[in-house]
Amino acid sequence: MDTAATVQPSRLARLAQGLRARLRLGLDVALPPLCPTCRDLVTGNGLCPACWSKLAFIAPPYCPRLGIPFAYDPGPGILSMQAIAAPPAYQRARAAVRYDDVAAKLVHAFKYGDRLDLAPLLGRWMARAGRELTDGADALVPVPLHWRRLWARRFNQSAALAEVISRECGIPVAHTPLRRVKATAQQVGLSRKDRATNVQGAFKVDAAAKAEVSGRRLIVIDDVLTSGATSDACARALLRAGAAQVDVLVFARVVDAARTPI
Ligand SMILES: [Zn+2]
Repeated sequence: MDTAATVQPSRLARLAQGLRARLRLGLDVALPPLCPTCRDLVTGNGLCPACWSKLAFIAPPYCPRLGIPFAYDPGPGILSMQAIAAPPAYQRARAAVRYDDVAAKLVHAFKYGDRLDLAPLLGRWMARAGRELTDGADALVPVPLHWRRLWARRFNQSAALAEVISRECGIPVAHTPLRRVKATAQQVGLSRKDRATNVQGAFKVDAAAKAEVSGRRLIVIDDVLTSGATSDACARALLRAGAAQVDVLVFARVVDAARTPI
């Protein structure tokens, strides 16, 4: 009987298990998980219960076009004032949460604080908020960064979110069709009008990528929607290249006071 051959692997396996457990313990001690918004210790990889309870998830009733939450339900098909006064190039927009203090800290930690591990959490919330959009869509298109910013930041946060949403809803990510041809100034601190001017002509669909766009229903993926200027510029470029429809899905959107339906 070849007992040595059977005993040896099991002993090795036990040894490996013990080593792995010790390593895991070591990592936990070295890197205790912190709440990305208040830096409190947490168990697991999310927000602490206090920050979680402060996040303002967007739920119906909201404007069927812009996804802006309504204070009361005006009935089916009623649009927000913004959607009527200045309809965007994109068809519909949806967001997981309101852009407030907690959401801002969360996005900041994700984007600039090396908390790429937050992508699954944010992406799953986005997939849930965008169910109406992903139903029947052909591809997800992350808002591209200019290569210089991508180089400085090392990753495109919109692409990371799109990958998670893709896994959740089964719609592929199209990475190539949209290109940022203008290194725009940061939108932070700009007025609504300046934001639109800033991103004008910033995005382009290359002739070679038109087949990926033509006749297709696309969803632009971004982290935050403020004035909607960036999403609008992306949608214009995709529609010019022949897209059948463009929707927008973001993690957080700014909701201003003027949100009562007409
Ligand atoms: Zn917290």
